[in-house]
Amino acid sequence: MSAPLIIAVDGPAAAGKGTLARRLAAQLSLPYLDTGLLYRATGRRVLDAGGDPAKPEDATRAAETLQPADLDRGDLRGPAADDAASKVAAISGVRAALLDFQRRFGQARGAVLDGRDIGTVVFPEAPVKLFVTASPEERARRRHAELAARGPAPSLAEVAAEMAARDARDSARDVAPLRPAPDAVLLDTSDLDADAAFSAALRIIESLRSR
Ligand code: C5P
Repeated sequence: MSAPLIIAVDGPAAAGKGTLARRLAAQLSLPYLDTGLLYRATGRRVLDAGGDPAKPEDATRAAETLQPADLDRGDLRGPAADDAASKVAAISGVRAALLDFQRRFGQARGAVLDGRDIGTVVFPEAPVKLFVTASPEERARRRHAELAARGPAPSLAEVAAEMAARDARDSARDVAPLRPAPDAVLLDTSDLDADAAFSAALRIIESLRSR
């Protein structure tokens, strides 16, 4: 029997990974995992306990005791969760604790997973790796629109600054930094709407799988 299909979708914040990965999973009848939620939920647990997301002991304990129900919380999006997530994500104990969960999820029936290190660390053997990106201005505009649709939002300039800080932290960290796997196919969505990005990704997947 052939190995279950793994599709890795990595890239910086608000590049369109989540929407794309969810649609690919539905189209290909594969389970979908938003791995950012694991880091967001870990960060939230640390904040709830009055801890410091940048402190290895606090963050590792929160990751090791993460429960499936933590991923269903309604407060995992927004600037505080973004910030706490990228702080806990730089801690090696946190990444080790969350690695098993992600691998087990994908190995069961195959999966589309989106994140920062799926193609480089979690599933380096994945036959399909997409690195989804867009210009920093476009990504900030999208995240701002997303936040504004949910209620009072920070200004566009504040969103852009927060995102730049988070991308810098994700790219500069020692463990599993944000970067394309050597065999990832780059998909720049700056000038693509969700439908066009989806069609482009399907074409890439078809061509990779027919090799
Ligand atoms: O993808 P999302 O923006 O929800 O991720 C939140 C944070 O979680 C990221 O800024 C990053 O620090 C971290 N993350 C990670 N590795 C992943 C997914 C997310 O480090 N695979």
